[in-house]
Amino acid sequence: MKNTMHKKKYFGFVILLVMSVLFFTACGSMNTNSGSSTKESSTTQMDVNKNETGEGRSMEEREGFSIREISDDLFDRMKAGNTYKEDCIVPREDLRYLLVLHKDKDGNIHQGEMVVHKLIAEDVLEIFEKLYDADYPIERMVLPDNYLADDEIMMRDNNSSSFNFRFISHTNKVSKHGLGMAVDINTLYNPYHKIVTNEDGTTEEVIEPATGEAYLDRTKDFDYKIEKDDLCYKLFTEKGFEWGGDWTDRKDYQHFELPTDITEKYSEGL
Ligand SMILES: [Zn+2]
Repeated sequence: MKNTMHKKKYFGFVILLVMSVLFFTACGSMNTNSGSSTKESSTTQMDVNKNETGEGRSMEEREGFSIREISDDLFDRMKAGNTYKEDCIVPREDLRYLLVLHKDKDGNIHQGEMVVHKLIAEDVLEIFEKLYDADYPIERMVLPDNYLADDEIMMRDNNSSSFNFRFISHTNKVSKHGLGMAVDINTLYNPYHKIVTNEDGTTEEVIEPATGEAYLDRTKDFDYKIEKDDLCYKLFTEKGFEWGGDWTDRKDYQHFELPTDITEKYSEGL
């Protein structure tokens, strides 16, 4: 929050000189535009420029980092893109839209976006602020709707994301991603891996994304790899998240989730 004081002074200065909220908004727009550069920014730029909504962070918001409620336009996008499916039991009001800056491995700055549950919105925003400040590399962060909510395609593209509504197979329980209570980071390089035993006793190996097989050997060194005790691991686990890389019956190296009981809340009465 280094620039909070600067922003407050700037705000007062503009008010005194111009006495116009509209003019101030225009100035804010120009500042924001100069601060982010990316191929993904075009879809989110309009939202970046708004400073009037969020979770009480409004005027103290850091440029490029914000929490917003789900706007009508965004809700339409989530329905068309299939993350907010017809049978979604999580109310739109319980979700939040995060805008965060992130840097890829070459240091290029991108405007990222992510929908999460409101219960973790503040914590996740803070984590991404710290990752950005520490130059922790995250390659891509757009909504799964850009991939029509197809997990495999999205993971192959190394996209980082959270909310994507779905029930756990053959249950009426909603998955952590279906609640927006789990976050996947740098998915291609941190794949999901499980040995599944079939009913006939045979086993099969599940790797998601399938193109992530080369990154299952965690003794190797490669870009975008999440490691136990690295900054990403530390920031999420400090906030109470579990890391899928710590699981023993399967590995989900990209995955951080908050182990709370809100799944039950949304599963009751189904
Ligand atoms: Zn996950």
